[in-house]
Amino acid sequence: MGKLLLVEDELDLSNQIRDWLQRDHHSVEVIDNGQLASDTLRVTQFDLIILDWQLPGLTGLEVCKQFRRRGGKTPVLMLTARSTVDDREQGLDSGADDYLCKPFHLKELSARVRALIRRAAGATANVLQAGPIQLEPSARRLTKDGVEVHLEPREFALLEFLMRNPNVVFNADALVTRVWETDTEISPDSVRTYIKALRKKLDQKELITTLHGLGYRLNS
Ligand code: CA
Repeated sequence: MGKLLLVEDELDLSNQIRDWLQRDHHSVEVIDNGQLASDTLRVTQFDLIILDWQLPGLTGLEVCKQFRRRGGKTPVLMLTARSTVDDREQGLDSGADDYLCKPFHLKELSARVRALIRRAAGATANVLQAGPIQLEPSARRLTKDGVEVHLEPREFALLEFLMRNPNVVFNADALVTRVWETDTEISPDSVRTYIKALRKKLDQKELITTLHGLGYRLNS
């Protein structure tokens, strides 16, 4: 699961893709204009960008080029009706990581999305471990000492993010940006509530440390 930006100006298609990916437990923000997408990418961080080639405002190719020039590392999956070899090369030259030609099957899209997110997370292993806690992102399974623990989807997403970035301090604002959808109204106070819930459900006080005035850190 990840936080995805979908840039697509065909409304029917973007609705289909968004619904499909949400079923895969990703959070999806949709933008229908290239320039807006480029602006959003300056301020918001995503786990994956799905970028249509032909867009109003700015082409997907330009959005991708600009993003890479600014040092953006997020994987980019390009969508396009173009299918000649030259176009494909141009797309990959712009800094896209993968390429999907329209029309495509949504299952194919899911598979590419999963692969790109996994690759980016540097997680060749499908299991994240911290002390007695094991988290399997693809199976959405969490166990402690082998016993399954049930979490709410946002609790799971928050824990997964922290487990992918162990020993790094994130303040509440950073966690909101990385884990919640951009238009979600969630306050730093609610982050504290989520952390509390995690500690309680996992019965682990030392797993996530609160550094007063700084933020939270998952210890591994
Ligand atoms: Ca288009």
